[in-house]
Amino acid sequence: MSHAYDVVVLGGGTGGYVAAIRGAQLGLKVALVERDRVGGTCLHRGCIPTKSYLRSAELLHAMRRSTEFGIQAEGVSLDFAGVRARTAKVVESLHKGVQGLLRKNGVTVFHGFGALVPPSIFSPNGLVSVTAGDRQELLEFGKVIIATGSQPKTLSIPVDGTYVMTSDDALARPDLPESVLILGAGPIGMEWASLYADFGVRVTVLEFLDRILPAEDDEVAAELHRLMTRREVAIVTGARVEPGSVRVEGGRVRLQARVGEEVREFTAAALLLAVGREPVTRGFGLENREQVEYDRAGFIQVDGFGRTGDPAIYAIGDVAGGGLAHVAAHQGVIAMEHIAGRSPEPFAPERVPRCVYTRPEVASVGYTESQARALGYPVRVGKFPWRGIGKALVEGSVDGFAKIVADARTGDVLGVHVIGPEATNLIAEAGLAMLLNATAWEVGQVLRPHPALAEIFGEAAMAVEGRAIHL
Ligand code: NAD
Repeated sequence: MSHAYDVVVLGGGTGGYVAAIRGAQLGLKVALVERDRVGGTCLHRGCIPTKSYLRSAELLHAMRRSTEFGIQAEGVSLDFAGVRARTAKVVESLHKGVQGLLRKNGVTVFHGFGALVPPSIFSPNGLVSVTAGDRQELLEFGKVIIATGSQPKTLSIPVDGTYVMTSDDALARPDLPESVLILGAGPIGMEWASLYADFGVRVTVLEFLDRILPAEDDEVAAELHRLMTRREVAIVTGARVEPGSVRVEGGRVRLQARVGEEVREFTAAALLLAVGREPVTRGFGLENREQVEYDRAGFIQVDGFGRTGDPAIYAIGDVAGGGLAHVAAHQGVIAMEHIAGRSPEPFAPERVPRCVYTRPEVASVGYTESQARALGYPVRVGKFPWRGIGKALVEGSVDGFAKIVADARTGDVLGVHVIGPEATNLIAEAGLAMLLNATAWEVGQVLRPHPALAEIFGEAAMAVEGRAIHL
C-alpha cells in the first residue's frame, strides 16, 4: 500500500519522535518509522535505564552512610533484581507516554524496518519502504529526516554479552559481575564505573588517553579521577589495549595492554566496552543517495538546520554526530521548523550542556579552559569549592567545585564547569547564561536563594574578578 507524507522520520529515538511531534504540531503530515520501540536508545538502552541504576546506586551509598546523618539503618543491602524491576517500570511508563504523545499529536507510526527506495520517474524523491514480516508499505515523502542513531563500537572484539559486553549487554544482564574491566573513560565508562563501584563490583578502567573524560575541563577530569580512585576504582590511563589479546578462559576475561614501556595483563569476570559509538548509516539505502556527505568518523554532515547535501534529506542526532539525547531532540525541532518554512535559530554546538551522571556528577557548557586558551582568548578563571557552600554541607556533598572560564577583555562567560552535587541540574542556569551572552559580572549579580546549591555560580562568577565572598 502507498501513502503520502510531508515528512517521513526514519528512527523513533529521542530525536526522531520529538521531530515527528513538532512536525505534526506545525500542521505537517508526518510518518515515523521505527523497527523496535519508540523512545530508542536513550529510553530503552541508554540514558534512562542507566540513570535509574545510578539513582539506586546513590541511594544505597546514602543509606550506608546514614549514621553520619544521625540515622541508624541496619541490614542495608542491594537487591539487584529490585533495581532492574524499578528501572523496567520507569522505562515502561515513559514508553507509554511517548506512544500516547505521538497518538495525541496525530503522528502515524509505522512499525517495521524502514529503507530508502531510489528515485524513479514516478517518485522523483524516492520512497521509504517499511517492511514488517512479509508486509511492505511504501511511503511517499516531501522530506525524510534520518534519525537512525548510533550503536556501540566494539573495536572488532567479539562480544558475547556476558564476558565481553557493550553497554546494551550490561543493561540487559540480570546479575552483576564480581569484577569488571571497563575499556574507555568517556561518559559511558565512568558512569558504569561509578554505579558498579557502588553496587560492590571491583572496577578497573583502562583508558587509552593520558586522562579520563577527554571532553571535559582538565581540572574537572583530574578531580573526578581523584574521587573515583578514593572509591577504590582503579583507573589506568595511557593504556593501549591490544584488541587481539582479549580472551575468555576459565570463566574470566583476560587482556593485555601496553602501559608506558610495560605490557600488563588485566583480568576480571567481565569486560565492558565503552570506547564510543558509531553512526547507523548503512543497510537502509542511504548509501545510494550520493549527495549525502560524511565526515571522517562516518557521521552525516549537516548544516545548522540539519540539511544534508541531498535536498530531500535531513539528518539529526547521533547519526549526524550529535551524541546526546538533548542534542537530538533540539536538532529534531530545528529541522522540522525549517522544513515547515519557519525561521528557527540554527543549532549552536557551543551552547550544548554536557552531563556525566557519576557520583559526584560532572556537567559543563561552553569551552574548557584549555580550549579557550587554544582559541586565543585572554582567559580569566573563577573557581569556587563546594565546601564553601552551606547547602552542600547540609547535603553532605562537599567534594568538587565550579569553575567559570571568562574572556578577560570583555568578561563574557566562555565556559562553565561543575563537579559536585546536582551538577547536571545546576548546569541549566549556565546554559541560560551562555544563551544570553552573559558576562561573569552579570552571573555574579543574579540574586540566588540561600541556602541553595546554585549559590556556587555566584561565587565562581565573582571569583573571576577575585571578589568571591566565602573563600
Ligand atoms: P566517548 O567517545 O565519549 O569516550 C570513549 C573513551 O574511550 C575515550 O576516552 C577514548 O579515548 C577511549 N578509548 C577509545 N578506544 C580505546 C581503547 N582501545 N582502549 C582504551 N580506551 C579507548 O564514548 P562513550 O563514553 O562510549 O560515549 C558514547 C557517546 O554517548 C558519546 O557521544 C557520549 O557523549 C554519549 N553519552 C553521553 C552520556 C551523558 O551525557 N551522560 C552518557 C553516555 C553516553
